[in-house]
Amino acid sequence: MKSVQPEVFLVARPEIDYDQLAAYLSEVGGEKWLEKLDRGDLDSDALNLAEFAGRLCYRSWEPGLNPNVVRVRTDQDKYLQNILASAHGSVLEHVSFSFVLHNVSRVFSHEVVRHRPGVAISQESLRFVRLADIPFWFPDWALADAELMKRSTALLEQMEEFQRWMAGHFGLDEEGVPFHEKKHKTSFMRRFAPDGVATGLLWTANIRTLRHTIEARTDPGAEEEIRLVFGKIAELMRAEAPALFSDYEITDGAWIPKWRKV
Ligand SMILES: Cc1cc2nc3c(=O)[nH]c(=O)nc-3n(C[C@H](O)[C@H](O)[C@H](O)COP(=O)(O)OP(=O)(O)OC[C@H]3O[C@@H](n4cnc5c(N)ncnc54)[C@H](O)[C@@H]3O)c2cc1C
Repeated sequence: MKSVQPEVFLVARPEIDYDQLAAYLSEVGGEKWLEKLDRGDLDSDALNLAEFAGRLCYRSWEPGLNPNVVRVRTDQDKYLQNILASAHGSVLEHVSFSFVLHNVSRVFSHEVVRHRPGVAISQESLRFVRLADIPFWFPDWALADAELMKRSTALLEQMEEFQRWMAGHFGLDEEGVPFHEKKHKTSFMRRFAPDGVATGLLWTANIRTLRHTIEARTDPGAEEEIRLVFGKIAELMRAEAPALFSDYEITDGAWIPKWRKV
């Protein structure tokens, strides 16, 4: 039995093509906004993309381009806070991040897949990937319980032994076994792994979804592993896009936003 920890790797973030952005802005007379780049004001592609999406809606690159707009917010933090405050959440859907959620259990994955809009998921297939051992996360309170650990480790070792026995019994490593047969039996064998078996997935979500799922899944009523993982995601996002994640108040691991349901 391999004892593991759930981990989060932020593997992809938005990247703007500023030449194309400039070409578009020169079409609509919005070059001034881009000039802010020279002052180093705009240094996050994620935040820039959200601001760009919002300004495109009102042609608010600068006052007067739209005769209805006589003044514009110039500070990006304030601009994005107004997006949150006014629940103009659709502009945040353009900004997506991809996370490898490593050593998370099937308990976790059953729950995370319930969040539907704004996400993409690719999960390790236990039809294809045979379980040679059963990686497993124990929270600290469980690790501190000697009798619980003795019994659960013995149970997991017995399950691992059964996996190995089945692989031998089905002859999966013998010469010439067709892949479809391996897949068929591997899929059967996974039924004898616990829900807590650690596995992994690539999870992509846009900022609107991230804000909602961070709130829901760090709530004290949420399951402890998903709370742990979404706490890590929240920390990463606050560093990546502070203007869109600094309204949260953190109380006992619960991330409570000032602006809900954008
Ligand atoms: C603490 C906790 C306990 C839970 N316990 C259980 C449980 O016991 N059993 C169980 O089955 N589930 C449970 N869930 C899952 C929960 O019911 C939701 O399915 C899950 O959290 C997904 O969130 P969401 O509904 O906000 O949807 P998401 O897919 O995250 O969607 C985001 C938002 O988009 C809107 N939306 C999305 N789809 C629709 C739609 N089809 N129609 C209308 N609006 C939509 C809603 O406003 C929704 O909040 C629990 C969740 C939490 C956080």
